[in-house]
Amino acid sequence: LKKRMAFLKDQPCVTKDGTTVTLLANCSSPTDIRAAMDAGADGVGLLRSEFVITGDHIPGEDEQYYYYMTCLEAAAGRPVTICTFDIGADKRVADLEDTINYSPLGMRGVRLQLSHPELFVTQMRALLRTALKGDLRIMFPMITGPADWKEALELVEVAKSQLRREGVPFNEKVPLGAMIEVPSAALLADEILADRCSFVHIGTNDLTQYTYAADRRDSRMSGYFTGWPHAVGRLIDMVVAAAWSQELPVTICGVSATDPDTAERFIRQGVRGLCMEARSLMQIKAHLLELDLNQPPRFQR
Ligand code: PEP
Ligand code: MG
Repeated sequence: LKKRMAFLKDQPCVTKDGTTVTLLANCSSPTDIRAAMDAGADGVGLLRSEFVITGDHIPGEDEQYYYYMTCLEAAAGRPVTICTFDIGADKRVADLEDTINYSPLGMRGVRLQLSHPELFVTQMRALLRTALKGDLRIMFPMITGPADWKEALELVEVAKSQLRREGVPFNEKVPLGAMIEVPSAALLADEILADRCSFVHIGTNDLTQYTYAADRRDSRMSGYFTGWPHAVGRLIDMVVAAAWSQELPVTICGVSATDPDTAERFIRQGVRGLCMEARSLMQIKAHLLELDLNQPPRFQR
């Protein structure tokens, strides 16, 4: 088994018909990132930046900068897609308990950050500076449509013009991407992706929750999160079509991608990147190496 794992790690993830799939890891810390690279990840597809917030303290720009630098170094040259603070709903932060109601339909993700522009701009300044030192990409969670996408881009510009004015070096060309995990964003994906968007990740955990009005924390709802294909598959089709027409890469994040048949479905739908917990990556790679997109699927349609 050990030998087989070592073989898989070094093997590029290319299907029998020659389609390359990028296999990325979800990570929450530099330690996590090192483990993911050891496990054979092509990079970090979802770095959960809110883990820089500890206890009752939101770190300032420099503290964040050093943390993000450590993350980038841990990835040893491989790309790191960092998701800006995704707080609210199931993602709790101790010192913000008073200001956030933890409803999945309330303040969370980029929505929360847009209502605290100082928090957003500080994080953006730290990230723009870090992006000078390696392959860092910035992604906004819980984008609901072109309006908040545009608002987020405007705040990126605020951060850039501040840094410029202060003569602080940063990466002008850092790729910005949208996390599509709300049905409205999937329906309007063509408009979001046409506006300065460099890549798109689909978060199927939240997309399923919001499509079926099924709380992801409630184990009685778990049936909605398996059993593909279903309504979420239709939304994914829309995002994939928008992405292909803009020639942008589309990656699936979420627990769904850890199931080999479901992962295969996504690739057959036109997805070319999968992002998951590192421990599942090689099992998925083994499945994809046997996949031939010119042959009918092995699972029940
Ligand atoms: C998702 O929503 O599918 C996702 C990958 O992000 P998280 O589980 O962190 O909300
Ligand atoms: Mg999510």
